Amino acid sequence: MKTEDQTYSDRPVQGLSILGSTGSIGTQTLDVVRRFPCEFRVHALSARSNARLLAQQAKEFRPMCVVIEEPTAAEVLRQLLRGTGIEVLEGREGLCTAATLDDVTTVVAAMVGFAGLESVLAALRAMKKVALANKETLVVAGAIVEQVLAESGGVIIPIDSEHSAIFQCLVGESEKDVEELVLTASGGPFRTRKTSTFASITREEALDHPNWSMGAKISIDSATMMNKGLEVVEARWLFGIDVEHIAVLVHPQSVVHSMVTFVDGSTKAQLGVPDMKVPIQYALSYPDRWPAPNPRLEWSEVHHLDFEKPDVEKFPCLGLAYAALRAGGTAPAVLNAANEAAVSLFLSGRIRFTDIHYLIAQTLESMELGRADTLADLVAIDTEARSFVLEHTRVGAI
Ligand code: NAD
Ligand code: MG
Repeated sequence: MKTEDQTYSDRPVQGLSILGSTGSIGTQTLDVVRRFPCEFRVHALSARSNARLLAQQAKEFRPMCVVIEEPTAAEVLRQLLRGTGIEVLEGREGLCTAATLDDVTTVVAAMVGFAGLESVLAALRAMKKVALANKETLVVAGAIVEQVLAESGGVIIPIDSEHSAIFQCLVGESEKDVEELVLTASGGPFRTRKTSTFASITREEALDHPNWSMGAKISIDSATMMNKGLEVVEARWLFGIDVEHIAVLVHPQSVVHSMVTFVDGSTKAQLGVPDMKVPIQYALSYPDRWPAPNPRLEWSEVHHLDFEKPDVEKFPCLGLAYAALRAGGTAPAVLNAANEAAVSLFLSGRIRFTDIHYLIAQTLESMELGRADTLADLVAIDTEARSFVLEHTRVGAI
C-alpha cells in the first residue's frame, strides 16, 4: 500500500475550486484533499457568510482566491486574510470567477440551493469537470445543463450518494441495456411516526436524521422526503432516463445506496457504510479508485436489508416532485423555489412542518407554468415562486 505523500495515479494534479467549502460536503471534500495532498492543488474556496472558517481553510490550503457572498462578512474576511496575498472576491460574479479560473480543472459544487446554478453553468461552459453535490442545479435547469454539456467539453460526476451508486453500477455498461434505476431512501426521521402528529414536528426533530449528518436544508428535505423527489429529477438529467424508469424504494439501513436493473433481469447495487467521503472521493478519483481508511461493512453483522414502497400520502413532497418532473418546463424550478422558501420558513419557526408540502402544492397550482429557455427565465421564475410562498404565509392563508 502506498503512503499518503505519493500520488495514486499518473494523471496530472487536479486544480480544485470548492464552492461551498464551509458546509457539510465542502468540509468533507477538504478531508479528502488532506488525505491525498499530492493529487490536488486548491485554487479557490467559497462560503456564504462564515468568514472565520473560510479564513482558516484559506490559511491551510493557500488558494489564489476566496469568495464570500455576504458583503459584511467580506470585510471581516479581508481583515483575517490581510498579508496572505489571497484575493477576496464577493457575490455571484466572484463565484463564477472561482468556477472558471484557468488553473482549475475540477469544480466541487457543494453550495446549497438555487444559488449554485449560475456557477455550475459557468464551470461547464469553461469545460471543467464538475463534481456535483448541488442537486438543485439539475432540478431547476436540467434541460439547460444537458444542452451546455452537449455543446461544451464539460462533464458532471455525481457526489450525491444515490447517484454515485448508480454511476458506479453503470461503469462498463451500455445505456440501452438499462431498464430501471432504483433510488434508495432512508425514509428520514419520521418513517414510522404517525401522520396525525406531523403538524407538531419541531425543527430539532426534523433536523435529527437517523443515518446521515448533513446541512440544515437537506436534512429538512430528507424529513419531508422532498430530498428523494429532488433526486428523482437529478437522476432524470444525470442519466438521461425517462421518469417512468426511475423508482424509489425505502431502505431504512442506508447500506444499499442505489441500484440499476438491466434488460436481462440482472440488478447491480453499490453498498457501503453511509459516509459521504466515499462518493466525494470517487467523484474526484474517477475513473480510478484510491485506497482510503473509510469504515467497511461488517458483513456478518448485516442481518437485515429491508425495502418497502414509499408512502406518498404520508410524504406528499415525493409525489409533488414526480408530478413536476412529468409536467416539465418550469414546474421543477417552481417546485424547487417553493421548497427552498418553505424550508427556510420552517427553519425560522414561522410555519409548521405540514405547511411545507401545502405551500409547495399551492405554488405549483397557482403559478402559470411554461418554458424556461434561459438562466434569466429561471431567475425570474425562482423569484416569483419564492414571493408567492412568502405572500401566502404573510396573509395567514395557512
Ligand atoms: P450546508 O448547508 O452544510 O453547506 C452549504 C455551503 O454552501 C456552505 O459552505 C455555505 O456557506 C454555502 N452557501 C449557502 N448559500 C450560499 C449562497 N447563497 N452563495 C454562496 N454560497 C452559499 O449544505 P450541505 O449539506 O453541504 O449540502 C450542499 C449540497 O449538497 C446541497 O445541494 C445538498 O442537497 C447536497 N448534498 C448534501 C449531502 C450531505 O451529506 N450533506 C449529501 C448529498 C447531497
Ligand atoms: Mg442523496
